[in-house]
Amino acid sequence: MNLETPANALLFDRNHIWHPYASASSPPPCSLVESAKGVYLQLAGGKQIIDGMSSWWAAIHGYNHPVLNEAIRRQTEKMSHVMFGGLTHEPAIELARRLIDLTPPELNYVFFADSGSVAVEVAMKMALQYFHAKGQTCKRRFATVRSGYHGDTWHAMSVCDPVTGMHSIFGDSLPQQLFANKPQTPFNGVWDESEMSNITELIEQYHSEIAAFIIEPIVQGAGGMRFYHPQFLQCLRKLCTHYNILLIADEIATGFGRSGKMFACQHASITPDLLCVGKALTGGYMTLAATLAASKVAETISSAAPHVFMHGPTFMGNPLACAVACASIDLLTDNNCVPARIAEIEQQLREGLLPVRHLDAVENVRVLGAIGVIEMKKTVDIAALQPAFIENGIWLRPFGKLIYTMPPYIIDNNELATLINGMVNVVENCAFQQKKS
Ligand SMILES: *Cc1c(COP(=O)(O)O)cnc(C)c1O
Repeated sequence: MNLETPANALLFDRNHIWHPYASASSPPPCSLVESAKGVYLQLAGGKQIIDGMSSWWAAIHGYNHPVLNEAIRRQTEKMSHVMFGGLTHEPAIELARRLIDLTPPELNYVFFADSGSVAVEVAMKMALQYFHAKGQTCKRRFATVRSGYHGDTWHAMSVCDPVTGMHSIFGDSLPQQLFANKPQTPFNGVWDESEMSNITELIEQYHSEIAAFIIEPIVQGAGGMRFYHPQFLQCLRKLCTHYNILLIADEIATGFGRSGKMFACQHASITPDLLCVGKALTGGYMTLAATLAASKVAETISSAAPHVFMHGPTFMGNPLACAVACASIDLLTDNNCVPARIAEIEQQLREGLLPVRHLDAVENVRVLGAIGVIEMKKTVDIAALQPAFIENGIWLRPFGKLIYTMPPYIIDNNELATLINGMVNVVENCAFQQKKS
């Protein structure tokens, strides 16, 4: 078969390639992307569409960025990869320095991982090794809130929401973790301290078994695109400190400006003991993640036998990925224009999306930083909506009842208007269809 025609290439893909959360035998349709530049994806057949997803929170500076391209090109000419055991290199050192500078002073140790899920596994292993080193070997479980998402690997999966996550399939094979109610008060809501009673009870009852509490700060992403009140995090930080539980902040989705602050923990001015970053770390160019550990965690782990942290992926600290991550962080922090741009994006998303909250089919509209969410009353038909989005010149990938966007920060006002209008158009249309049925 000649794979050079788009139709044949797509047919081969359909017959042989597994896509995320998809059936092998009857997969949903896929679009063929030929290239991408700025906020645009170039589809086979000539259509250009605006990427409203930043390729799952990652491509914050858009595609084919000259500065990021150059960083990769330069590094390729030096070396694409060397093992990290016993060897080190400037890109990793430079990246660690930037991450330590950007995060609170207690977080002084960086462990590079190859993907977000692995960074979560690493944080969880660190928590267990920390209590192992302290001789508190009863502390072996993890607690979290419902509606969370922390990745698809084994232990990461065990702390995903037990209903919308994969617990029903993997059941008893998964480690059994402890789940508190999801945060209730919205980001801008009136804080109600009584909200903490459920989580407090859980922690009071089980603290002697809990090594760490893992949570996505402020924004619960793939578990429901919910934005919760900063006081929740502050209270949780106090509880963890009081009960000798490590706090793992999973900033894999929120890190690098997405929620309006460089890290979402800053909305609550808290410092976690372990911090996971990923997704936007390389500006969406390559897979790379990192777990940052507080000095007390790293030094305790190293103080008792076996004195080492037991993890070391083959491609740890990949130089290409570290080099492009440094360049991406520099774009974010140079002359501080990105935070201002994110505030403008937030404002335009609010003005553009809030009007649809009055539609019968719409449950709620919420915006935080460069994230805009329309929650419908009913589960949306993704297969029906995706062609409608493409028709409107935009790329979105809804899930459940949620139609949402987190555009690249380089999007301009006109492109953002096209994105917002496309979303509104499709929602109005699908509201109309729901009414008819
Ligand atoms: C995407 C995500 C992960 C998993 O990252 P992968 O790179 O897909 O393994 C973990 N936690 C959060 C909050 C995420 O959004």
